[in-house]
Amino acid sequence: MDRSQPEASATTPLNVPDLIQRKRDGAAHSAAELHALISGYTRGEVPDYQVSAWLMAVFFRGMTPQETGDLTLAMAESGDLLDLSSLPHTVDKHSTGGVGDKTSLILTPMLAALGLSVAKMSGRGLAHTGGTIDKLESIPGWNPELSDEAFLKQAREVGLALVGQSRNLAPADGLLYALRDVTATVDCLPLIASSIMSKKLASGAQTIVLDVKVGAGAFMKTPEQGEALARAMVQIGEHAGRNVRAVLTDMQAPLGRLAGNALEVQEAIATLKGQGPQDLHDLCVELAVEALTAAGFPEQARDRAEASLQDGSALSRFRAFVEAQGGDPSFVDDPSRFDVAPGRDEVLAQTGGFLSSLDALSVGRAVLVLGGGRERKGDAIDHGVGVELLVKPGEAVTVGQPLLRLYHREERGLTRALELLRDGVTVASTPPAPAPLILGRIG
Ligand code: URA
Repeated sequence: MDRSQPEASATTPLNVPDLIQRKRDGAAHSAAELHALISGYTRGEVPDYQVSAWLMAVFFRGMTPQETGDLTLAMAESGDLLDLSSLPHTVDKHSTGGVGDKTSLILTPMLAALGLSVAKMSGRGLAHTGGTIDKLESIPGWNPELSDEAFLKQAREVGLALVGQSRNLAPADGLLYALRDVTATVDCLPLIASSIMSKKLASGAQTIVLDVKVGAGAFMKTPEQGEALARAMVQIGEHAGRNVRAVLTDMQAPLGRLAGNALEVQEAIATLKGQGPQDLHDLCVELAVEALTAAGFPEQARDRAEASLQDGSALSRFRAFVEAQGGDPSFVDDPSRFDVAPGRDEVLAQTGGFLSSLDALSVGRAVLVLGGGRERKGDAIDHGVGVELLVKPGEAVTVGQPLLRLYHREERGLTRALELLRDGVTVASTPPAPAPLILGRIG
């Protein structure tokens, strides 16, 4: 439908100018009004220009928690609602996006091994942040598309099924996000929270764990912003009758030591074998504890989460999941088989001292220009390129020591990636204050 040519609705007694005016003047909307606005917009009956004005009014006037919850439900109900009620203890996880964040690859098989059901939709990477589907596609044969029946069957039998976002979930969010993008209304807390949570509610899990990233490589740059978003999302979940907990985590520097699709799967497999970098291991255990507690199984949650990484049970769930979705499990058994790009280059320390910061955004952008990410939806990517952190912030370095290793293919993007990485590294004479990984918990 041509969205600039609104049709009169037969069913909604909605007076959009009145709604815009009331929001402009700071009033709160009822659930029925928000439902009518969102369903009318999704059907093409309310034009972009009216919704743009309304979004700007929301931007300046905000929304009450009740309104934000009602808006989110209206967005979730604008398309299909996945019915996971046939599965026991369903759990979903969402990260607001970071660099080197391969947590879902480790956490979801841990949760499956611990008796929860994970039937999850995941996204692809855009700009400097990676996406779980892109990472998994570095395993030859792995298929992100399953029928509804196969999706539920696999989640029941393996405890874990993970697919791309091909279903008609929360279509209102796609429409609103595109409009927000061109009307300077993206960075508005109730709109961000409702956007993220509408997709999670439509995805059907009873328990939702949110990893809200804070720092240079994240959407939320300060702990205060991250906490406000986390609180808003937890409130929305409670409003919808779901168990939601959020963890605020540091994203100044990349998570783990590897960024880039195949490299991240290799690091995830090492972590599933109990041999991962400490920060990644700790975050996965922390999120598993939150998920188990929210799902009603708090007893010895930390010990059980740790055990799933030490006793091979999470690894064997991951292997079974890869195989069930057509992937070659020998890559899990022998991660050296991944097609990692053969070109190598390094960034060397110009002075000695301590690595005081390593900007996650610079690393994410370097992976992007090497070909490992996409500028626009649908761009092809090179799964084998990436960046390895040879030193993590806080560690001592000597002059000339390699700090970062780049994995490139025929030098594509190499010059720019080296520039980005050199600018993203700071070496100081004194060690930085230790940066805690977990900045807070909500829920
Ligand atoms: N991620 C989303 O899904 N929506 C937003 O509005 C921001 C980040």
